[in-house]
Amino acid sequence: MKILLASDNPKKAHELRTILANSGIEILTLADVPHYDEPIEDGRTFADNALIKARAGAQHTGLVTIADDSGFTVEELNGCPGVLSARWSGQHGDDQANNLLLLKQMAHVPEERRQAAFVSVCALVVPNGEEHVTGQWDGWMLTEPRGDNGFGYDPLFLPNEEFPNGRSSAQLSPAEKNALSHRGKALAQLVPIVTQLSQLSEANSD
Ligand code: IMP
Repeated sequence: MKILLASDNPKKAHELRTILANSGIEILTLADVPHYDEPIEDGRTFADNALIKARAGAQHTGLVTIADDSGFTVEELNGCPGVLSARWSGQHGDDQANNLLLLKQMAHVPEERRQAAFVSVCALVVPNGEEHVTGQWDGWMLTEPRGDNGFGYDPLFLPNEEFPNGRSSAQLSPAEKNALSHRGKALAQLVPIVTQLSQLSEANSD
């Protein structure tokens, strides 16, 4: 069975293919299907945005489609940057400016009130329905950046697994991060759903 991952991020495709290895499911990305204009992600929640992207993929290609939306949430800021994570400073994808602004906004917040999390919502759209699952990676927001791996807010995040004096998520190896991360947790919940779908589609084609 073929499933579209409505993303052009090769790292996400690699992660999903690894998780679904030996399942008989082939993961396509936007690079493998005829071009269509991607929808504006104007939802108020991660689930809204993931579903917007997955619905567009299914509508344009007719394929079962998966899409994800993720971000960094800080309790002291009522969950912000949240869905605005990629453009928190106003400039889409400017990780350094986003991190700098967030550090300033949190400058006077004491350690015990710096709870934060990465959240990933994966949506799945099939011809007759849709589903979404959420993965969360809990921890704390640091007072200054640490580490060079990863991307986005990784240098500002101290996972619970490393609390209190361990490494930020930008100091973990990619394998260590994948084993703990919000995205890994969300994708893992999708596996039984897509496996069942694939078995149903095989049974129907017999
Ligand atoms: P997207 O869902 O991949 O578009 O990610 C949205 C934004 O959330 C990214 O631009 C990052 O700022 C942030 N983000 C999501 N996942 C991570 C992560 O694993 N590490 C660091 N930042 C992340």
